[in-house]
Amino acid sequence: MGVQNPPSPGQPTRKGHSSSGLGLVLALVLPACLIAPPAAQVFSASGTVRGASTSEAQELADKLEYLRPSLMRSLPGVRQVDDLEVWIQDTPGLYSFPHSSNSDAEGLWSESHDRILLARNADDMERTLAHELVHASLGHGWHTLPGTLEEGLADYMSAKLVPDAAARLRAGRLASAALATGGLGMTLSIRLPNNPSTWMARITLSGTQPSANPQRDVFRLAAGLSSTKVTAASKRGYYGLAFVLINRTIERQGLQHLLNLCLSAEQQGYESVPRPWLLKAADLADTPEAWRTAALEAMGKAELVELLDMHPGFVRNAAANYLRDKGIQDLEGLEITLTLRESNTTLDLQENEAFTTALLAELTE
Ligand SMILES: [Zn+2]
Repeated sequence: MGVQNPPSPGQPTRKGHSSSGLGLVLALVLPACLIAPPAAQVFSASGTVRGASTSEAQELADKLEYLRPSLMRSLPGVRQVDDLEVWIQDTPGLYSFPHSSNSDAEGLWSESHDRILLARNADDMERTLAHELVHASLGHGWHTLPGTLEEGLADYMSAKLVPDAAARLRAGRLASAALATGGLGMTLSIRLPNNPSTWMARITLSGTQPSANPQRDVFRLAAGLSSTKVTAASKRGYYGLAFVLINRTIERQGLQHLLNLCLSAEQQGYESVPRPWLLKAADLADTPEAWRTAALEAMGKAELVELLDMHPGFVRNAAANYLRDKGIQDLEGLEITLTLRESNTTLDLQENEAFTTALLAELTE
């Protein structure tokens, strides 16, 4: 996510995006009060990390020293930032007046200050640092990447750089993309011991589609910029769709091809890469259905396990209701599977200890 300066005379906003008229008036009336740096600091070859204590800063500096050179090696078209700083804060921000649209962000990149701002309680601080480092490192060649797609690239690279966090990140983004384009359908199947028939329940997770054609708006809206006013759910949807397109393009064509599209667009005088070029590179049709299918096809077993972990109730309740109805209180000899429709990814839920433990607890309570 990128943060904008409060517009003030002589200070251009990032990439020419303008904030709302109301924001402009407030910023001109209120003096922008810069937040003071955190108390402790650790210097490293990859940048300065500031946190509440030296140990907090040191822990993140160790990650920065590994992540930044890895990113510079693996991503083409990068730029060098000489005085990079990373600040660990309770709420990431540059200024001390309330900036409501930033309050849910776990990380921000401020281009004007060469500073990454990270939330102390981020779900995964290493992954968030990797994501913000991508924003910080993208050279001029990438500037024609349209709309929200820079977020997809930052997520893609952070999943590569922090493999332990990859399945959870991918599950979240792919599920959000599916929810933004019609929903996510699963089939729960249970077979009782010595019984040839299988009981099946269709479970659908549905969300709000942000617009009639979110797969078009993802090219138009910069959902990662703090000045873009969309709801949190819509923002998640656009981040998800951006991830689907970027993930698919890079897996099919490679990172260099994506950069080449950006460079060709600039050479041919386009402000941003034309949508048809990107759809072709990702082999995607311009319909919500095509993008939903693409999101679900990208979900494998590891992502489905994470999805189950993120929303533990929806499958467990359906299974518990059926088993209670049959008077069954233990899972011995049962076959319980969960299949992601449209992708045929199937999990054997008997192998998922977190699930069986919670299901047994629910059956015997
Ligand atoms: Zn971002």
